[in-house]
Amino acid sequence: MESFSSPHSDVLLEDAPAGGPTFLDRLFDHGLLIRTGVDGLYGRSGAFESVVDALDRLITRIGAADGAEVMRFPPGMSRPAFERSGYLKGFPNLAGTVHSFCGDSAGHAEILACVEAGQDWTGQQEATDVVLTPAACYPLYPVAAARGPLPAEGRLFDLQSYCFRREPSLEPTRMQLFRMREYVRMGSPEQVLAFRESWLERGTAMMRDLGLPLAIDAANDPFFGRAGRMLANNQRAQGLKFELNVPVNSVEKPTACLSFNYHQDHFGSTWELRQADGGVAHTACVGFGLERITLALLRHHGLDLAAWPEAVRTALWG
Ligand code: ATP
Ligand code: ZN
Ligand code: MG
Repeated sequence: MESFSSPHSDVLLEDAPAGGPTFLDRLFDHGLLIRTGVDGLYGRSGAFESVVDALDRLITRIGAADGAEVMRFPPGMSRPAFERSGYLKGFPNLAGTVHSFCGDSAGHAEILACVEAGQDWTGQQEATDVVLTPAACYPLYPVAAARGPLPAEGRLFDLQSYCFRREPSLEPTRMQLFRMREYVRMGSPEQVLAFRESWLERGTAMMRDLGLPLAIDAANDPFFGRAGRMLANNQRAQGLKFELNVPVNSVEKPTACLSFNYHQDHFGSTWELRQADGGVAHTACVGFGLERITLALLRHHGLDLAAWPEAVRTALWG
């Protein structure tokens, strides 16, 4: 993977003077992001969305020849499917559940009285069969498995979803609700690894064409707790996750804008998804953080889209 890497040492990020406005402040001031009062939960301007839309189309163009099957799911998924997926083993702290009021009129009166008195009104909320989608590919696996064994050539899907992760932050790149575009490959180990390799190259070329400094690095997911540290070490040692990092908030702590994940047979065995020859299917996905790439562009090319380098504007808008 070293061939994709480029050092960050030559990257200059204009640092805000101490006490001056942060990158997030400047995004608010320019109206690109809109405050809601919650860290990591933002409205976006038309200009911001025009970049998100252009990226979405660019990613479609780059993958077009592969003939991925397009599917779109809402930002909530089935709680039983979520439980079976194993997400809670790794990331209980990031999960978001949808709760709803299931009481009667007396319960309703209680809620209103609590709100009126400024007290906690959520005591009567009960978990529903919906949880918030944590990654665009999670709703896909049970749907794919329900179709039966994969064809010999495997399958390829094109996804996009709002995703929720409970990780409030003052870094604009770490949102609680954000959009993730994904391609997901299912098949033999060779098929899914070839897919990941090709997207490491295509993703790198895409981001270079957008004029962004980047490095591909081995990575791990932020597994929860003490047992999580071992999972993270294994993931790294086995080369299961790579990230395409761009300095956005700082040069020292660059931001993962794309990620390239090999799940081995985790989802295949979880969902009893089989290859054509009966073996357990392997899966891999490439994830594009649409807000993160947009923020990287704003950080490096400035907050005025009209002043972006012509080559970047052409790559995005033709
Ligand atoms: P990080 O290490 O920064 O937390 P991650 O490993 O959790 O990122 P993935 O789980 O691989 O990221 O998610 C796929 C893509 O979604 C990432 O490459 C990134 O671009 C985007 N993404 C992940 N978390 C967030 C977030 N909190 N806000 C905005 N985009 C995100
Ligand atoms: Zn995925
Ligand atoms: Mg994360």
